[in-house]
Amino acid sequence: MLNIVIFGAPGSGKGTQSELIIKEYGVSHISTGDVLRAEIKGDTELGRVAKDYIEKGQLVPDELIIDMLAKVLDTQKNKKGVIFDGFPRTIPQAKALKKMLNERGTDVSILLDLQVEESILIHRLLERGKISGRSDDNLETIQSRLNVYHTQTAPLAQFYIEEGKHVAIDGGNGSIEDIFKRVEAAINKVIG
Ligand code: AMP
Repeated sequence: MLNIVIFGAPGSGKGTQSELIIKEYGVSHISTGDVLRAEIKGDTELGRVAKDYIEKGQLVPDELIIDMLAKVLDTQKNKKGVIFDGFPRTIPQAKALKKMLNERGTDVSILLDLQVEESILIHRLLERGKISGRSDDNLETIQSRLNVYHTQTAPLAQFYIEEGKHVAIDGGNGSIEDIFKRVEAAINKVIG
């Protein structure tokens, strides 16, 4: 199975590159942010709890996210693999993902770390905010999300470097297609 973690700061292009990867490799997409937004829309218990965290730009607690992911993973029937978008975001989540995949006889194949300069991230998120309708695409929440990324999520790169799974991708220069070419080269290298 090809299990890809797409990693990077908010606005680094995880969603955009995920769409292209899905088209090319036929893997399924799990975006924890999308799942949470659907829970909020459905006004579920999880959605009501998650809403406050999301609007403040903070992370939803690990136990809730890990439980939610396990449930989504159990519904996956695609044998080709999965792209994890926005998960893991903390070390406990990364360890939980490894355990869940190992229990299912598989593992993370590669982590693609989309690296983008901060000024470009802010610009992209503010532009997206004009059309996305997302409650967290405003300057105050963007700054808090970037801060959370640097303090809680970026250190995860080291975990995957030690696992031999980490690949850095320039996600700031060139067109979406140029960036996808780098992504594709990295994936093709691991699938051989
Ligand atoms: P995203 O769509 O990935 O940018 O996620 C939007 C928001 O959902 C984040 O700012 C968090 O509040 C929450 N969220 C999404 N994924 C996770 C996760 N893996 N762990 C904790 N919170 C998450």
